[in-house]
Amino acid sequence: MPLIPPQIAYLTLWPTTACNLACAYCYASQGEAPQTMDRQTALAALELAGGHDGPLHVQLAGGEPTLVPELIEAVAQWASQRQAPTRVAVQTNGALLTPALAAMFKRWRVAVGLSLDGPPEVQELQRGQAAQVMAGLEILERAGVDFYVTAVVTAASAPHLPRLLLMLAGQAHARGLGLDLLTCRGRAVGGHAAMARPDALAGAASRLAQLTGWLNARRTRPFVLRELERCANPARSFARPRPAGPWPCIPRAGSTPAARP
Ligand code: SF4
Repeated sequence: MPLIPPQIAYLTLWPTTACNLACAYCYASQGEAPQTMDRQTALAALELAGGHDGPLHVQLAGGEPTLVPELIEAVAQWASQRQAPTRVAVQTNGALLTPALAAMFKRWRVAVGLSLDGPPEVQELQRGQAAQVMAGLEILERAGVDFYVTAVVTAASAPHLPRLLLMLAGQAHARGLGLDLLTCRGRAVGGHAAMARPDALAGAASRLAQLTGWLNARRTRPFVLRELERCANPARSFARPRPAGPWPCIPRAGSTPAARP
C-alpha cells in the first residue's frame, strides 16, 4: 500500500532571529549572529507545507518578525492566493509597530499576538522599551486590528497581572490574554527574573478569572483568558509550563487564541 504523506496544517517560520529587545529571560544565547530568512526560502517552505487542499496556519515568530515587514507581507500575500483556508499570524513584541504595519496586518488579515508582561513598569523591568510597546498597542487599537496579549509570568509580574487585564479592558481590540510561565533557560539563568511562587500564581489566577467574568458581563465581544479556557479542558492544566525551546517567542507562537486556525 503506498504511503500517504501527512498534510501539514501548521507551519512556524522565523523571518529573523534578530530582535530589538533583550528580555531578561530570553532563551537566546547572547552573542549568536542573527539570521534572516530570505523571501525565496520562505516561499519554498510555504509551497512545501501548503501543497494540499486542507487548511493551513502559518505562524511568524522569532526573533522579532516586524524587523522584516516585507517578508510578513510576502507570506500574507501568498496566503491570500492559496485556494484552501489559510491563516497567517504574527507574534510581535510591539515596539516597532507603525500605522503602516498595522494597516498591512489589516489589509492581509494577519492575526496579531502581542507580547506584553504587565503595566509599563513591569514591562520595562522584564522586557524594556515599555513606552514604545504601549504606543504599539495604541497603534493597533486605532487601526482596528484585533490582538491577543501573551505575558511571561515571573515573581515580579505575577502580582500585577490583574492590572494588566484591567489595562487591556480599556482596549476594544484587545481580545484576550495568555500566560506563559518563566522557564529558566538562556538569559533567565542567573538573571534577575525569578519564577513566581505557587501562592502568588494562585492568587493572580483567581483574580484574573474574577475580572474576566466581570469584564465579559460588560463587553459585547468577549475577552478570552486562555488559561480559563484550558481549565474547561481537564486534559490541560492551568499551571503547565511551556515546552522548552530556544526562544520564548517560539513556543508562545500558536498558543494564543489569535494564532489558532
Ligand atoms: S523574548 Fe522575544 S522579544 Fe524578548 S529578546 Fe527574546 S526574541 Fe526578543
